[in-house]
Amino acid sequence: MGLISRLIRKCRAKSPWILLFDTGACNACDLEITACLTPRYDVERFGALLKGSPRHADILLVTGPVTRQARDRIIRIYEQMPEPKYVVSVGTCTTSGGVYWGCYNTYPGLDSVIPVHAYVSGCPVKPEAVLKALSVLVERIERGDI
Ligand code: SF4
Repeated sequence: MGLISRLIRKCRAKSPWILLFDTGACNACDLEITACLTPRYDVERFGALLKGSPRHADILLVTGPVTRQARDRIIRIYEQMPEPKYVVSVGTCTTSGGVYWGCYNTYPGLDSVIPVHAYVSGCPVKPEAVLKALSVLVERIERGDI
């Protein structure tokens, strides 16, 4: 049992499929994530693939402030993802509201809506920081401590 679950965790860590959800961000963080897909940063060398459906994704990357309008959609997408699933909050406005903090229509952070497993700081984030967050997350998935 231990060997099988270790093998399953290893397989999961070697093929993290990613879904990107933009709540209505200024697009700078999305552009930095897109840079991760280019040959310069090449996130696919870690086995990561960008998917278009939550049903095929293991990791949800969320950018932009969590607005009242986006909240229900984030929850619906999160619920459509198969278990086990992981969430990365990308950018200051996703993590804490950032420049939108205190607005009447903005939540103070993604973790007030769904569970979050990693945070990437920056406004906008750096591609290196996104890669670092993903690599730490998959290491933790492989170790089984998440
Ligand atoms: S964190 Fe900054 S750069 Fe990223 S989406 Fe929010 S406002 Fe834009």
